[in-house]
Amino acid sequence: MPPESAARLETNLLLKALRGPDRELLLPHLEPLNYGKGATIFEAGSPVTHIAFPCEHAVVTLVITTSDGRSAETATIGHEGAVGGVVSQGYVPASTHAVVQIAGPVLRMDSLALQEAKRQSRHVRDLFARYSDCMLAQVLQSSACNALHPIEQRCLRWLQTLHDRIGSPVLPITHELLAAMLGVQRTYLTRILRILQDQGLIKVGRGRITILNRPGMEAASCDCHARVRDHYRTVLGAVYDDHGLIAIDQPQPRFIATDPEAEARRRIDRWTGKGSGTRVDP
Ligand SMILES: [Zn+2]
Repeated sequence: MPPESAARLETNLLLKALRGPDRELLLPHLEPLNYGKGATIFEAGSPVTHIAFPCEHAVVTLVITTSDGRSAETATIGHEGAVGGVVSQGYVPASTHAVVQIAGPVLRMDSLALQEAKRQSRHVRDLFARYSDCMLAQVLQSSACNALHPIEQRCLRWLQTLHDRIGSPVLPITHELLAAMLGVQRTYLTRILRILQDQGLIKVGRGRITILNRPGMEAASCDCHARVRDHYRTVLGAVYDDHGLIAIDQPQPRFIATDPEAEARRRIDRWTGKGSGTRVDP
């Protein structure tokens, strides 16, 4: 294991959430790499042989490209997560392109090695199951947002998602990139950004967009981003401060299924009013 892997592990919140022996299961397999902006981690249709953990400020998007050349973002992953082989078993073909949008360091490991670690450790299995659920929530919410909400709100959602992941109000993104993520023409997107700038929410610069008023953005946008954020909080134990996502805490004990059958019974009792605890969402 290269020594920088252990230090770099601290800069991916998902890996950092693992403790002692669970970390030791993954560490020997982690390979440090650096990806430039625009690099492809995997292509749609190709077998996903590795799982990649963005570190520090690196951000990867999962992008669907249609046969007429248009594209749209389906998920945005930064230092809170991982891409590729998160849930699959073996080298399953990818359904999306995984493209690096903000350059940075990445830790990579063979998908089969992760599979083996999940088999050996309930904690590893549990953490990745929770993360997969959160990523699915992000994808599903994006689908609804793209279908139902106006472009201004979709734009604000994506800017907030990015802000949470890089922890800086200065987002190093171009109009071209943002237009591609949202599946709209660049000229149209530029008009939208001008409207948001006139509202005092953002400042548009060359190769970057600066967030000026995050509370204002949240008030002006749909609740899609907030819903996903709440899901990450509840299911994964994600911790946010004013600058974004800063930690993945140990999940709440009531979500740890040490004995799945007993946990299922407890939940049924709570829902049917037989249990003594407060009723919670399943
Ligand atoms: Zn929305």
